[in-house]
Amino acid sequence: MKLYNTLSHKVEEFTPHEAGKVKMYTCGPTVYHFAHIGNLRTYIMEDVLEKFLRYEGYDVTRAMNVTDVGHLTSDGDTGEDKMLKGARREHKTVMEIAKYYTDAFFADCEKLNIKTPDVVEPATNCIPEFIKMIEGLIEKGYAYEAGGNVYFDTSKLDNYYVFGAHRAEDLEVGVREGVEADGNKRNKTDFVLWFTKSKFEDQELKWDSPWGVGYPGWHIECSAISLKHLGEYLDIHCGGIDNAFPHHTNEIAQSESYLGHPWCRHWFHVLHLNTNSGKMSKSKGEFLTVSLLEEKGYDPIVYRFFCLLSHYRKSLVFSWEGLDNAAVAYGKIVSKVAALKEDGDVDEEVVREYRERFKAALGSDLNTSNGITELYNVFKAKTNGATKLALIRDYDRVLSLDLDKAAAKLREKEAEEKTGNEGEKDEFTLKIEEMIEKRLEAKRARDFATADAIRSELAGMGVEITDTPQGTKYTIKK
Ligand code: AMP
Ligand code: ZN
Repeated sequence: MKLYNTLSHKVEEFTPHEAGKVKMYTCGPTVYHFAHIGNLRTYIMEDVLEKFLRYEGYDVTRAMNVTDVGHLTSDGDTGEDKMLKGARREHKTVMEIAKYYTDAFFADCEKLNIKTPDVVEPATNCIPEFIKMIEGLIEKGYAYEAGGNVYFDTSKLDNYYVFGAHRAEDLEVGVREGVEADGNKRNKTDFVLWFTKSKFEDQELKWDSPWGVGYPGWHIECSAISLKHLGEYLDIHCGGIDNAFPHHTNEIAQSESYLGHPWCRHWFHVLHLNTNSGKMSKSKGEFLTVSLLEEKGYDPIVYRFFCLLSHYRKSLVFSWEGLDNAAVAYGKIVSKVAALKEDGDVDEEVVREYRERFKAALGSDLNTSNGITELYNVFKAKTNGATKLALIRDYDRVLSLDLDKAAAKLREKEAEEKTGNEGEKDEFTLKIEEMIEKRLEAKRARDFATADAIRSELAGMGVEITDTPQGTKYTIKK
């Protein structure tokens, strides 16, 4: 497939190190609050990428961390610890907060048909791995101790700004905002690998280390967890675009300095979901969650569909109107699927042709909106229902829009409504039919008095009858 690579700033042919195998890493959630639908846009698009790689026949191993320690409110190693902030807000311990929001994250993912990665590793599980990596970096001269903390020395690198688009001034933003500059740093781009002295002496989670009791920096966790589960050569690393700098930049600095060779080939970044008032952000505290969408009556899959309608490399503005439009379009697709019949043999020739079209759409820098267009094209194809259904099920292995399930539900609902109406009509209809039959018998017996009495009784029930050559017809007056 062709995929944009943030490292080269180009759409490139995606080629893993080992033919047929893909090692994929995803930056996981910081579990101090619910994931917002912006975070989930990133996970939805990464999920489509993983499923498309599998669809293409790759054997994918995907790992993801869960950040339950070390992520400060500023990515430049300053501010409060996000986990501690969450625990204080809810009067719980950090581990309670981590467990609660990790479970909530995976529950949201399930509702959005986001597959759980093969490996999910909380950062607090890997303290020995972080320490080993930091020791290695110190040994190789890439890290130094200062004021109780261990820092990565970015001046040791020829090219720290690997993604190019960032400038040294970027890290000064925090300083301008009134956060104290860290006097221990030799270079302003240096970052913390291990904290023993932070402003937060009451840090709840601390571990012993060669540098004293403390806790890891945020960036080291992804480098070490990826190395632990996916080895020294990573094929693709994913995250939201805000992670490119400094988080991914720092991951590359650490991993390549530690390993002594290039580490990850391909960097996949999803642009943000914004609202009219700007980026949706957890730390701002005002954000939309999957539960909120559900409370408002939206099926979470409609949000997935909404995301697939846009390209991952364009920022996406969320609006209720946009979501409503997606709900209507999704409903129409489901009705079209529900109307298809298993009416014969699947035409394998047509399946092959259409699969190629779908692969071409998704294989072109994961163009999901063109993938949806291909789905519409299946409905228009000159082939039978069985072939169309086979194709829709096939595409849905990647799109995960639950089309088959939703269509079955719709068919069931329609059948229920029909029998429901019949049931309601039944009692009344049966009564009318019974009386009409009795009237006919009376007429045949030339008992016109009884026949008239039945007609009057029916009229009293609001039923008007007419005798026609085709038999007695009736209408019900409201
Ligand atoms: P966090 O839980 O803050 O560590 O973020 C989890 C993921 O969501 C990361 O990959 C972020 O880059 C991504 N992310 C954060 N904000 C947004 C947003 N508004 N839209 C899309 N992705 C986002
Ligand atoms: Zn990460």
